[in-house]
Amino acid sequence: AKQHGKSHFEVFDPTMHESARARLDLECELRRSIDRDELYLCYQPIVEMASGALIGFEALARWNHPRLGQVSPEQFIPIAEDTGLIGVIGSKLLRMACRQMETWKASEKFAAELSVNFNLSAKQMSQNGLADDIRDSLSESSLSPDCLRVEITESAIMENLHEGVELLCDLRESGIRVEIDDFGTGYSSLALLHKLPLDVLKIDRSFIRKMLTSTENIAIVRTILTLADSLNLDVIAEGIETEEQRGQLLEMGCELGQGYLFSKPLDCVQIEHLICQACTW
Ligand code: C2E
Ligand code: CA
Ligand code: CA
Ligand code: CA
Repeated sequence: AKQHGKSHFEVFDPTMHESARARLDLECELRRSIDRDELYLCYQPIVEMASGALIGFEALARWNHPRLGQVSPEQFIPIAEDTGLIGVIGSKLLRMACRQMETWKASEKFAAELSVNFNLSAKQMSQNGLADDIRDSLSESSLSPDCLRVEITESAIMENLHEGVELLCDLRESGIRVEIDDFGTGYSSLALLHKLPLDVLKIDRSFIRKMLTSTENIAIVRTILTLADSLNLDVIAEGIETEEQRGQLLEMGCELGQGYLFSKPLDCVQIEHLICQACTW
């Protein structure tokens, strides 16, 4: 039993012990999931909002565990990062995304310009040979570099600025476009931003969610759009759920969007249906 008033006994708080054990279990399961092929990708459409045309997808990791069911990436990606498993997992998922694109590209219904966005975590960025691994994945699937875009969060770049900039330069020299994810939630200075080798800013969905009820958030979105314009960057607004948000964003000059209004992340079979039906929004 817990001895109140004696803090050194509370180190053995049974609930803490349990959550630590649950985490260890999950870590162990994640390690096994790699060879058991339990990890896969879903793809969320990215849309040109004025026309409703599909322009690409964001690949999002999924884990279907036989006993635990679907485990959220918000839960397993941090574990993968802490344990270093993200290297193997990231590399495997990237090859999966490239093979998927290769298959889709073989279909005549699939527009040649479509590209896939892939998320890179901070931990992967400091890994030796990441750029080469990305180039290898592309060439193994006979894909040109403009089929792939990488997403890196603002904070991941800031965490590791020197290596980060070097990696981004390397990727862009190979023709792979670079997007800053969750933009606005980090704290990059404006002076720094214009030195970063980038192509796209993705406005974090927290600003889009509050945009219609808060003038402050509208102002933030407007500022990001102005900033992007002066730096010659494209913008993708994330987490668009309503027509009102789409309308407001279009009015402010934001052309590209992603969110449940258009589509939730879909598995590869659903994506194929969508392409066959030449779906637009
Ligand atoms: P993220 O990169 O910011 O991905 C966008 C997240 O927002 C996805 O969650 C997506 O399903 C969700 N989302 C999209 N549209 C809407 C919307 O309209 N409303 C709401 N409420 N949510 C929307 P998901 O798939 O659960 O992924 C969560 C995070 O896990 C990702 O955030 C990313 O940071 C990480 N992640 C996912 N897959 C990978 C991966 O392959 N590698 C790495 N390193 N991280 C990944
Ligand atoms: Ca992302
Ligand atoms: Ca994001
Ligand atoms: Ca996020």
